[in-house]
Amino acid sequence: MAARRLSNGHTHTSFCDGQNTPAEMAAGAYALGFGALGFSGHSFCPADGFGMQDETLAAYRAEVKKLQAEYADKMLIYLGLELDSLSTPVNAADYDYIIGSVHNISTPAARICCTDLSPEETARAVAEFGGDGLAYAAAYFAAVDEMLNIREDLVDIVGHFDLVCKFNADGRFFDEQNAAYKKAAAQVLQRHARKFVFEINTGGMSRGYLDRPYPDYWLWEIWRDAGTPVVISSDAHLAAALDFQLSRMTEKARNFGLNVIDIADVCAARGNIRQLFSR
Ligand SMILES: [Zn+2]
Ligand SMILES: [Zn+2]
Repeated sequence: MAARRLSNGHTHTSFCDGQNTPAEMAAGAYALGFGALGFSGHSFCPADGFGMQDETLAAYRAEVKKLQAEYADKMLIYLGLELDSLSTPVNAADYDYIIGSVHNISTPAARICCTDLSPEETARAVAEFGGDGLAYAAAYFAAVDEMLNIREDLVDIVGHFDLVCKFNADGRFFDEQNAAYKKAAAQVLQRHARKFVFEINTGGMSRGYLDRPYPDYWLWEIWRDAGTPVVISSDAHLAAALDFQLSRMTEKARNFGLNVIDIADVCAARGNIRQLFSR
């Protein structure tokens, strides 16, 4: 695909846990030279009370639609949602696209743990898995597998595939080179690599947790083999992070041989994702 201007389809705003309003994010993206910006506010998750409840969600949708009209001649704007695996399903027709993400898993202590929250929360969860970090990671990938089985008709893009590694820099909780870890991750990715668009997400890097994107580079080989369409996203929670390493990751992914597309491609192909696969 010919070189395009920057784009990002994973964007949070002050309607959920972002720091800037949708209007500020749109203005920031436009100033950075974006050709397309997709908003993906967090769905409401009853398990932890996080995300946009009905009234907020309606206001979010109205605000993004207003910006769509405002920017009609300048920049493509898309109304998306980051749908947590524990959220109740939404009406897909209300959105231009949906990112399916696992943030929470249940532990053997019958507690819902947020893998995205903090090192302390991760340590507590791993302790509930008997100190077995690999079991914790395996439970996360099993949750991703389950979500993608149940929500194949709802999810367009799979969010941050190995988010479970967020607080695992230097293998603090589990060894990412361990064969059991690699198998747990690879099997799930292989099972779904021909069904969805996936993202390369620089959010763990922009927040200083990791020196590589989600997912780790070795998993990219599965996408290359499957011709999986991949979008590059920043998971931005503030306007200043909208383009964090997007150009570098796009180049890296293309050089790796990945089928890199953008959020406009995803929305245009919705309902017929097959056409986005390169093989
Ligand atoms: Zn997320
Ligand atoms: Zn997000």
